[in-house]
Amino acid sequence: MHEKCGVVGISLEDRDAARPLYYSLYALQHRGQESAGIVTHDGFQQYSHVEMGLVGDAFDPGDLEALNGSNGIGHVRYPTAGSVNACCAQPFSVSFKSGSLGLSHNGNLVNADEIGDELADLGHAFTSDGDTEVIAHDLARNLLEEDLVRAVKRTMNRIHGSYSLTIMHDETVLGVRDPQGNRPLCIGELEDGYVLASESAAIDTLDGELIRDVKPGELVVLHADGTGYDTYQLVEPENTAHCFFEHVYFARPDSTIDENLVYEVRRELGRKLWEESGVDSDVVLPVPDSGRAFASGYAEAAQDDGSDIEFAEGLMKNRYVGRTFIMPTQDERERAVRLKLNPIKSTIEGKSVTIIDDSIVRGTTSTQLIKLLKDAGAEEVHVRIGAPPIVAPCYMGIDMASRDELIAGNQSVDEIREEIEADSLSYLSIDAIAETLETSRTDLCLGCVTGEYPYDIEGEATDRDVARPDIGTQSSPADD
Ligand code: SF4
Repeated sequence: MHEKCGVVGISLEDRDAARPLYYSLYALQHRGQESAGIVTHDGFQQYSHVEMGLVGDAFDPGDLEALNGSNGIGHVRYPTAGSVNACCAQPFSVSFKSGSLGLSHNGNLVNADEIGDELADLGHAFTSDGDTEVIAHDLARNLLEEDLVRAVKRTMNRIHGSYSLTIMHDETVLGVRDPQGNRPLCIGELEDGYVLASESAAIDTLDGELIRDVKPGELVVLHADGTGYDTYQLVEPENTAHCFFEHVYFARPDSTIDENLVYEVRRELGRKLWEESGVDSDVVLPVPDSGRAFASGYAEAAQDDGSDIEFAEGLMKNRYVGRTFIMPTQDERERAVRLKLNPIKSTIEGKSVTIIDDSIVRGTTSTQLIKLLKDAGAEEVHVRIGAPPIVAPCYMGIDMASRDELIAGNQSVDEIREEIEADSLSYLSIDAIAETLETSRTDLCLGCVTGEYPYDIEGEATDRDVARPDIGTQSSPADD
C-alpha cells in the first residue's frame, strides 16, 4: 500500500520559503517518493521546480536559490490517478487570466472526468490526465467571476471525493480540506510565519508549533506577509470520513492527526488486539517498522494481564531495499522478503512466536514471513493484525490492490490462515479502531474494510446518504 501524496504551504515574514518547504518535504517523504516539487511567488512572478525522484535527488542548492519569494507550496507524490511521469508531478502550476495558480493535492476526486469533460467543452486544454489539473482549471475559471474565497467555495461545491490541498494564488497560500476530512491537513506557527502541512511532523521539523487540524470543509488563507491567517468554514459537514489507515499505517508515528498522536493510537490498538485475541506465546515480534508500536502495546497489555510474553526485535530490516528493487520473476519476488527482513534466530528458535503487523494486503509477505520464522526454528507462528481484513480497494488516493488481488477479498479469516500457513490469525475489529480514535464508525472512512464508501462511487455501495454534486455549468451563479 502506498499513500498518494504529501502537501505543504508556507508564508513567511521576510525570508525565502524555499528551504523551509524543502525541509518539510523531507519530513513528508514517506507519503510519496515518485516526484517532489516546490512553487514559490515573490510578489511579481511564480517560480517552480518539479522533478521526478526523492526530495534529496530532486533539488540541488542552485534550484532552491532560484525559488524566490517568502510564500510557496510543495508536494511529494506517489501516483494513483494520472500517469507515472513528469507531466503529473506537482505542484501543478499555471498562469490564467485570473492570475497564477499553484496546486498541491493529496487525495482522489471521484468526479474528475465529468468536470474535466465539461471544462474541455468550454475550451480548457489539459496537459495531464491527473485530477489536480482539473481542480486548477475549475478554480481559475471561477476566479474570473468571484473573489478568492467564493471561487474556492464554488469549486468545492463541484468536486467530489477526497482532497487536502495547498494552493498558491499569486502570492497568497491557502489550505483546503474536503468536507469529510478524508486526508489530513494541519496548520502550524513558525517563529516568522505560518505553515500548512499534511502531517504535524513537517511542522516539528521547522521548529514550529502545531496549532490545530484544518477542519473538514474549511479554507485557511495565510497572510502573504507571514503575520497571520484567516479561516472560512465553506462547507458544513454532517459526518466526517477520516481515513483510519492514516493512523494504522500511512502517517508517521510522531505526527498528530485529528488530535491523536499516531504512535499512541498504534500502541492502544496493540493493547486492544491483545484484549480481543491475545495468544499466550513465548515472544511477540513486530513486523518492522510499522508493527512496532502495535507490538509494544500488545506486549504491555499481555504483561499487565500476567502473561510472561516477551517483546523482542526478532526481525531485522534492510533499510536499503527500496521500491525501485526490480523483481521480474515470481521466484525473485519471493526472494524479496529475504532481502528485506532477516530473523534473529536466538529470539525465535524453539519458541512459540506472535508476529504483529498493521495490515495484510495480498498476503505474499505474510506467507513468506511465516516460512522464514519457521525455517529459523519457530515452533508456532501466530499472526495478529492491527486492522480489520482489507476486503475492497481504495478510491480515495491509496494505491492498494484490486479486489481480486486482496487476500481477504473473497476468503474467510480461517481460509487466509490456512493459505499463509499461520498457527492462528486474528484481525482487530472496526469497533476497537473507532473506540481508540474516540469517534463513531459513521465519522470514519471504512471503505476498504467494509466495501461501503463514504462517497458515491460508480458500481460501489455507499455507507451514507451522499450523492455526486450536480456539477452544473460554469456560467451559473455561485452560491453564497
Ligand atoms: S478506503 Fe481505506 S485506505 Fe482508502 S480512504 Fe478509506 S479507510 Fe483509507
